[in-house]
Amino acid sequence: MYVIDGTPIEQWKQSHPLLDPLMAAQPCCWINEQKRPFLAAQPDLPLKLSDMSDAASRLARFAPFIALRFPETLDNSGLIESPLRPISHFKAALEKQYGRGLPGQLYLKCDNALPISGSIKARGGIYEVLKYAETTALSSGLLKQGECYSQLAAPEVRALFNQHQIVVGSTGNLGLSIGIMGAALGFKVSVHMSADARQWKKTLLRCKGVEVIEYEEDYSKAVAEGRKQALETENCHFVDDENSMDLFLGYSVAAERLKIQLDEQNIQVDAEHPLFVYLPCGVGGGPGGVAFALKQLFGDNVHCFFAEPTHSPCMLLGMYTGLHDQISVQEIGLDNKTCADGLAVGRASGFVGKVMAHLLSGIFTVNDDTLYKLLVLMKDEEGIALEPSALAGAPGPFRLFDEGQSYLNKYQLGDKMDNATHVVWATGGSMVPKEEQDAYYRLGQGLLHG
Ligand SMILES: *Cc1c(COP(=O)(O)O)cnc(C)c1O
Repeated sequence: MYVIDGTPIEQWKQSHPLLDPLMAAQPCCWINEQKRPFLAAQPDLPLKLSDMSDAASRLARFAPFIALRFPETLDNSGLIESPLRPISHFKAALEKQYGRGLPGQLYLKCDNALPISGSIKARGGIYEVLKYAETTALSSGLLKQGECYSQLAAPEVRALFNQHQIVVGSTGNLGLSIGIMGAALGFKVSVHMSADARQWKKTLLRCKGVEVIEYEEDYSKAVAEGRKQALETENCHFVDDENSMDLFLGYSVAAERLKIQLDEQNIQVDAEHPLFVYLPCGVGGGPGGVAFALKQLFGDNVHCFFAEPTHSPCMLLGMYTGLHDQISVQEIGLDNKTCADGLAVGRASGFVGKVMAHLLSGIFTVNDDTLYKLLVLMKDEEGIALEPSALAGAPGPFRLFDEGQSYLNKYQLGDKMDNATHVVWATGGSMVPKEEQDAYYRLGQGLLHG
């Protein structure tokens, strides 16, 4: 039988009863008993509001370059941002599916529509490449402090970047973001792809001159190999998805942008109007960066939940046992196989798990069939095509009412739920080729209508 951290699993189960459904790949919902009031959690956090505003300023400095190289960002002056939109038809369809009404309003944060790489990785991944470019250009003297960053498109800067390499391990979307932006700046880029990575993502990158190295193993192997290659290469930057503060900060900028969008749409967030946010989680950097920043801005008035596939609940396992990155889902007999390729991660980031330890409200798991069905409902009801990973957060509000009553009671939220705003974070999809999207849709239709 399985042994975790030197203790037989049967003994773990006594103190951690959720291990049973977790090991059986059953959908489950974990409420984080370690969550603290924000002011009590804040002093221990490794990053501050000022780190987030530093990242936001860096993105603003790059905006002229981005607008120049990626005209699709011109409308937004070179900022890479996505809409927040109400999804009332999808809400009605879910109410029918779940056989209950959902108090409050339901919104979709459309990171599937982020320009340049069509997923949440266009936040963290691109930010880290830009930061490396800035550091490299400034230290060479080819870019001066205060100069317009459109200068980075100059041939001599490109030639400089071409002497430098960027390496990353990925299940697909991070590689896409790093590869597209890295190549646009002139860097040499190597992407180490796990077995889950979709063929079209590899093909697209190769077309852009990016080196793609494929593995039969999962994400952890791809990252380990990438790290190894980077160590052996001169002038090389490794984008460390498991530990990178830069990635994390790149994601975090989403929070202040969301706050502006909430204000613009007259959506109130305060003690009487709680905000619930549901974020799909792979290794943890994306949802962690966003949730961390939302807590900084909204404190106890925002409640953040992560969503993971039933076969890849690495963050739930790590945070629940307190072992963080010292345990993988394979060690409890799960196969880490899921149609949610962006979330197919067996071992979570220890850095993110520890940062979220006292901030996160909980984590629920979703099976693949549910993701496919939700994909069809989202397309039919709202006309939005998402990739399976991006739907993991969608059942969140209903799961909260069905399985998270203890949470609503503990924080005395029951009578405030009519005023609640639920934001489902859609993390990717707009770059999925049509044939691939149609195949997802047909699978979901088969499941929905038998
Ligand atoms: C990467 C990814 C996530 C999760 O981000 P992590 O940083 O790996 O937790 C969610 N959805 C999609 C579509 C992704 O590509």
